[in-house]
Amino acid sequence: MSDTNLAPEKSFVFDFIDRNEKAVATIGDSIFYFGELGMQEVESARLMTDLLEEAGFAVERGISGFPTGFCATFGSGGPVIALHTEYDANPNNSQASGATEQKNITAYGPGHCEGHNCNAAVMVAGAIAAKRAMQEFGLKGTLKVFGAPGEEQLISRPYYVRDGWFDDVDVALHDHIGGDMHTVYGLTHAAAVSAYFTFRGESAHASTAPWRARDALDAVVLMDMGMAQFREHMEPDMRAHRVIKDGGDQPNVIPANATVWWTFRAPMADGARAVFEQGKKIAQGAAMMTNTEVEIDVMSAVWPVRTNQGLAEAIQSNIELVGVPDWTDDEQAFARKLQEAAEVKVEGLATEVRPLLGPTAQRAPSNDCGDVSWKVPMGRVGFPSNVPNVPFHHWAGGAALATTIAHKGSVAGAKTLAGTVVDLLSNPALIARAKKTFAAEIGDVVYKPLIPADQKPPVNLNREKMDPFREPMREHYVKEKPVFV
Ligand SMILES: [Zn+2]
Repeated sequence: MSDTNLAPEKSFVFDFIDRNEKAVATIGDSIFYFGELGMQEVESARLMTDLLEEAGFAVERGISGFPTGFCATFGSGGPVIALHTEYDANPNNSQASGATEQKNITAYGPGHCEGHNCNAAVMVAGAIAAKRAMQEFGLKGTLKVFGAPGEEQLISRPYYVRDGWFDDVDVALHDHIGGDMHTVYGLTHAAAVSAYFTFRGESAHASTAPWRARDALDAVVLMDMGMAQFREHMEPDMRAHRVIKDGGDQPNVIPANATVWWTFRAPMADGARAVFEQGKKIAQGAAMMTNTEVEIDVMSAVWPVRTNQGLAEAIQSNIELVGVPDWTDDEQAFARKLQEAAEVKVEGLATEVRPLLGPTAQRAPSNDCGDVSWKVPMGRVGFPSNVPNVPFHHWAGGAALATTIAHKGSVAGAKTLAGTVVDLLSNPALIARAKKTFAAEIGDVVYKPLIPADQKPPVNLNREKMDPFREPMREHYVKEKPVFV
């Protein structure tokens, strides 16, 4: 039972999550074993939307053209609080939970090696707890719960913001797994634009008549050389990196089509846009030199993530109430063994919450929730479902994700999230403070989407990679359904 000094709404949501710890664990484990790649999160989205619908939310599936995206709404009028998170896995990241060495569940299969499975569990459980408290205590307002596909490729949330899903939102909360209980404020991630550059020419026999061809792969190579020269003149914190998605089929056929996928990053949206614009010029130059044509298809375009001070303070007060889970000796021993195996600092699991430090230092990765964070004040709940220091997207990042460490961390995260929502619903001063600090934080920057106005979501992304693994992975699915009581 919770502390009797707590406000009754707070005790109510904390007790609700504690009572439903089995359901929280089962959501996280189910999505862990689904192990679905970005844009192909069919089973994961179905589980989440079914649970939210059963709990009384009105669910809109397929929003903004995303088959695995959704918005689940409860309540009416203000304040409008949005919750949003991701649930995608990564290729080649299949990792047996509880193993302290690299071990596939399904050979070469996709899987969770960061913990977006737990992000989903925390959001769904936190939303259902907050909704029950709204009914129990007559709290007025609206919850909008967003499922955000394809975070690993930075896809969905800019479309949601562009299409108006956040127009009526007052504040937004994102939850993300980590190695401890924490929140931050300030600029945390970089802006990014990523795009496919597809060159189209004409094929010919490479040996008998190469002069007849217009070589699309030559254009990819020349674009690479142009970008390499341009790198010297980029600002120090700008980045450009690429993979060749299609470089032709066989050496004796000169490629008529070739595709290179570039990602351009900078600390701010204008910088990412500037690198992209230069990349487009270089691509056009490469096309001109090779008598080919270039098609540019934007995959993702995100603003840097900025978390809000007022919301960070509200989240931190809940983090301190919830505290760090009570880890057992076995859990600590597992964490140390995993840290040793991953060759990172060996210090076990965190036993204290992290104080609110801020503003934090901006780092080079990106997250597609950046656009939300410039549209409305956004806070982030960091919860301890993974082992501190283990690298994400590496087998060690997946080893704890369906263990009791993940389960207890998700319970702590869901309590923090639900506790923050009921605070925001019952204390208008908190939302006023979020808005005031937000206005100072964004200054005179005007948000406008980096994503083109007519851009459609890449709904086929990862389909060919995911489909062959569905059957072999199915035998590992969790059989039982999460039930909230
Ligand atoms: Zn993530």
